[in-house]
Amino acid sequence: MFGYMGKILRVDLSESSISEETLSEDMCKMFLGGSGMATKYLFDEVPKGADPLGTDNELIFMTGPLTGTIAPSSGRFSVVAKSPLTGLWGHANSGGFWGPKLKRSGFDGIIIRGISAKPKYLVVDNGSAELRDAEGIWGESVFETTKLLRQKFGKNSNVACIGIGGEKQVRYAAIMNENHRALGRCGMGAVMGSKFLKAIVVKGGQKIQTGNKDAFDKAAKEAYALVDESLLKITLEVYGTNMGLDLTNIRGGLPTRNWQTGVFPNTDAINGPAIIEKILTGRKACFACPIKCGRLSDVKEGPYACEGEGPEYESVGTLGTMCGIGNLEAITKAHILCNEYGLDTISAGSTIAFVMECYEKGIITKSETDGLDLKFGDADVMIELVHKIAKREGIGDLLAEGTKRISEKIGKGTEKFAMHVKGLELPAYDPRSAKICGLAYVTANRGGDHITAYVEGPAILDIPFMIIEKSTIEDPLIENPEEAEVVKDMEDAFAIFDAVGLCKFMGVALTAEEVTPMIANAIGRDFDVDEFKKTGERVYNIARAFNVREGLTKADDTLPKRLLEEPMPEGEAKGHVVEKLDQMLDAYYEFRGWDKGTGKPTPERLKELGLDDIIDKIY
Ligand code: SF4
Repeated sequence: MFGYMGKILRVDLSESSISEETLSEDMCKMFLGGSGMATKYLFDEVPKGADPLGTDNELIFMTGPLTGTIAPSSGRFSVVAKSPLTGLWGHANSGGFWGPKLKRSGFDGIIIRGISAKPKYLVVDNGSAELRDAEGIWGESVFETTKLLRQKFGKNSNVACIGIGGEKQVRYAAIMNENHRALGRCGMGAVMGSKFLKAIVVKGGQKIQTGNKDAFDKAAKEAYALVDESLLKITLEVYGTNMGLDLTNIRGGLPTRNWQTGVFPNTDAINGPAIIEKILTGRKACFACPIKCGRLSDVKEGPYACEGEGPEYESVGTLGTMCGIGNLEAITKAHILCNEYGLDTISAGSTIAFVMECYEKGIITKSETDGLDLKFGDADVMIELVHKIAKREGIGDLLAEGTKRISEKIGKGTEKFAMHVKGLELPAYDPRSAKICGLAYVTANRGGDHITAYVEGPAILDIPFMIIEKSTIEDPLIENPEEAEVVKDMEDAFAIFDAVGLCKFMGVALTAEEVTPMIANAIGRDFDVDEFKKTGERVYNIARAFNVREGLTKADDTLPKRLLEEPMPEGEAKGHVVEKLDQMLDAYYEFRGWDKGTGKPTPERLKELGLDDIIDKIY
């Protein structure tokens, strides 16, 4: 099968058994690969109501047909499982080099189920696989685990592993590959920890065969050149993902002190240029990527001395401004600590900010915080909480449960400022300053998330995405139901990126007409723009159907009350709330062909998408 290695590895940790199976051509045709194919496996194989941290949940690593090819930024791969944070569809996606190496080891994906009696790690090497005893590395950090395993298996091996956060089943624990690339969201690291699986080492040098090699190489080289010459490359490479911090702040949408305002007083100290000036030592690209958006950083001295990669924009927004912290060195330290422990920086920072507001309001007191003064702006306290969360130590045990569960536990009206959607903590863009982002947060299948639709690009950062015909948002402060289609179209387009193994930043520079020849010539069959759209929609619908099957209702498609009822107190968005979410949702459901009363994909729509077999699972 062109573009694929043709094999899936199955690991049953309860049985300590490994087997392989041939990749289904029908599955490839319908769902392409990556998160698309993994979601189909999840839907079919994980029983309704399964405990996300139990035996029946599956942890599915999946590459796509472009992963590991010469297509630009094709280092991406996905992990899908039922999320212990949301109880719904969990998905995380990462770059780096691990995904391409998994393919070169001879497999498109790995499906892991069961729970091991003892800590194990998995080695996949050139077509064979083996489970090994991990007792010597259980308890080690991400960095130490990666170092030890690479010493053992050589520099040509790549490691994805969990740290202490995953071992302790922090509900937003990440799986890390190459130390600093994160499968961050939805608690995939907790699922891995619940299975007693510490790491997966991949090795191999097998070739990926493309269907029409000459045509594929031509399409990939043309796409690479387009990205290489784009404005995106210049800005993203120079400033990293933190390039948009100032603009987000100017628009009044940079969440500050747990979203009490959207204006942070001193972004000069923590923005992209500040990173260059204070801590940057180099730039780093993922596999086959013309853009080096990764930051190599070094805080040389002082209490926050550390060395590693980052911080990304989201870490600056969550561990920084949401916590009222404008100290770049401290934010960098916390970001690198999260990587070392294997924690999602967005959920960690956001949860800390939420608890700081509970403390500010006197809802929790020093007697419940291990004596810590949880004041906004205190970087040392924020860092101490990162340690405690990862180890589930003292108050960290509560914070490890995530914002939604903490709020449900302590009550007292905290749900109004518990900043999550469906249990997933929100990223650092306030929809009161760009209303369309509110719709994107509530329709994202994995919960409150920015990169499912990436509509922050056109709405806040003034970056149109070429991947759909029209991504422009006329006025970010006006809720225009017609623009709900932008969210739907971007969700579908990026569902394809996650399925084939491309970085979503490529969607800024490349049109669907430029991406589809790469896919078609990789898989060796026709794949035009219509199929691109329809397949994206199919992938999007099956994830929604999974959520519906697990109990999601239309009532879950909503925002925290703060965004709906509390006017922004200052800045460009002063006086604004998200006013017309219901109207926007109705328009969105209409564009999707979903039932406006229930938010469920209609049987007719599912049939049109070829998903007949799942209709009776949700009706
Ligand atoms: S744009 Fe950045 S995140 Fe995307 S593949 Fe390139 S280096 Fe990795």
